[in-house]
Amino acid sequence: MQSTRKIGLILALVFLLPALFFSVYEISSLSKDEKMIEEIYNKQLEAILFSVNQYSDDILNSWSTRIETTMEDVVSSDSIPPKINALLSLNPSLVCAFISDTLDHLPVQKIYSSSDSIEDLYKDKIRSALAGGTKLIQELKQYKMSGFQKIVALPHSWSDTEDLQCMIFVIENKNGFRVVGLLLNPGVFIQDLVGPRLQKIAKDQFILSVFDSRHKPPIYSTLSADSVSAKMEGLTKNFWLFPDYAIGIRTKGSSLQVLINERTSNNIIMLLSLDVILIIAVFLVFRNVKKEVQLAQNKADFVSNVSHEIRTPLALISMFAETLEMGRVPTEEKKKEYYGIISKETHRLSSIVNKILNFSQTEANKKTLHPEVLVLGTEIKDVLNTYDFHLTNKGFEYTFKESGDIRVLADKEALIEVLINLLDNAIKYSSDKKRIEIETGSENNEGFVTVKDYGVGISSQDQKLIFNKFYRVSSGDLAKSKGTGLGLSLVKQLMEAQKGRITVSSKSGKGSSFTAYFPLETKS
Ligand code: ADP
Repeated sequence: MQSTRKIGLILALVFLLPALFFSVYEISSLSKDEKMIEEIYNKQLEAILFSVNQYSDDILNSWSTRIETTMEDVVSSDSIPPKINALLSLNPSLVCAFISDTLDHLPVQKIYSSSDSIEDLYKDKIRSALAGGTKLIQELKQYKMSGFQKIVALPHSWSDTEDLQCMIFVIENKNGFRVVGLLLNPGVFIQDLVGPRLQKIAKDQFILSVFDSRHKPPIYSTLSADSVSAKMEGLTKNFWLFPDYAIGIRTKGSSLQVLINERTSNNIIMLLSLDVILIIAVFLVFRNVKKEVQLAQNKADFVSNVSHEIRTPLALISMFAETLEMGRVPTEEKKKEYYGIISKETHRLSSIVNKILNFSQTEANKKTLHPEVLVLGTEIKDVLNTYDFHLTNKGFEYTFKESGDIRVLADKEALIEVLINLLDNAIKYSSDKKRIEIETGSENNEGFVTVKDYGVGISSQDQKLIFNKFYRVSSGDLAKSKGTGLGLSLVKQLMEAQKGRITVSSKSGKGSSFTAYFPLETKS
């Protein structure tokens, strides 16, 4: 048993411990990995938002460059320069463009729009907005002087009804520095110009939505009928150009968090199931190894048991034969007694050899059985008649209770072998109460014979093992009674070969009862 424990320990050390350590390590590092993935993913989303912002910037920059080249030779003519006219007519988001007289006084020199009413509506507003933004304009001038063209939002409240924003930049022409402004409707700008770009980026993977900070539902989304608010977006960033607007991005189907959680739980499930499989595999390997070790142990015990079993009768035979040979036996009566002993021991020897031969033949499937219809009671009575002397000689009292005429399908020799083995064991493992009860019966499709004794009994743990080949109960006084450990294994093999079975019910110290079930004769 120590060797199986050692094997168990080695298996646990080699397979289970590393697997368990690995699982614990993996599970603890999973959240770290997921965080890293989340960070990388967020960076990717940020890059997408950055490119959208860059794109909107590029549009306005291209407008400003176009206007700047037009404004080079701005004249006092009242007509709208063609490039500005084209911008106005092509872009509904552009309400009007204007240019200041000089940078210092900032009166509005011209307002270009598609209708005069717009000019009337915004003239004063533009003037006051420019007056309020002198600091910003000076900054833009500095930028321009260092060679940069920067376009920024001019803070002002433009309309109560409409959402408007003014973008300004500074240009330089032959009359000096001037401020150019573009009064825009950012919502329309986003929908008309940024929207197609968002659709292109989103494809089937993302949902990109734009929010006005004053309204909850998105003003534009790549997913029609999207009602997810900015707060629920995976990631949001403000537009560089329109501070009141934010753009949000999230994955299509499920949010990033859901994806990550799903991945984490999948990984954990995979790891745990791998562990379970490994534990089951190690358990199965251990069980098989344990069985093999047990068998090897039993075989070793068997050799020593059989040698012992054979040596005793051999010693007796040779001793009494020698005595007889030397003519040292005084009386005829003694001679008869010695011959009797020699013959009894010879029988014992041949019964051991027969048992071993029988076992090896059945084990190698060399023994062919010939099941025939037998009356169970008749066969049992025959065996008991032969055994009667043996039983009573050993001080046993036995009863046989036959319940009707039970016809079973069995091999005659095998049936007798089974009965003799059961009776032998009942004799061998009985102590004070020398009583054996034999009973037949039938239930379902089986006829059975029970051999019951009041001997030492078998512990429930041993009951599972006694039918294994070579197995002998090794504790207590039982070890002292001689045997090979083959009897019950042979019984089991014989019963199975006849399509029958053998069962045991026993209590330590109270006795045992073995029942052999045979298939009933099939009436055709
Ligand atoms: P053997 O009797 O040669 O040891 P068996 O295969 O016949 O081998 O029996 C296996 C073990 O089962 C025995 O060692 C014994 O401990 C136990 N056993 C069998 N029959 C009985 C019985 N009637 N009462 C108690 N123990 C029994």
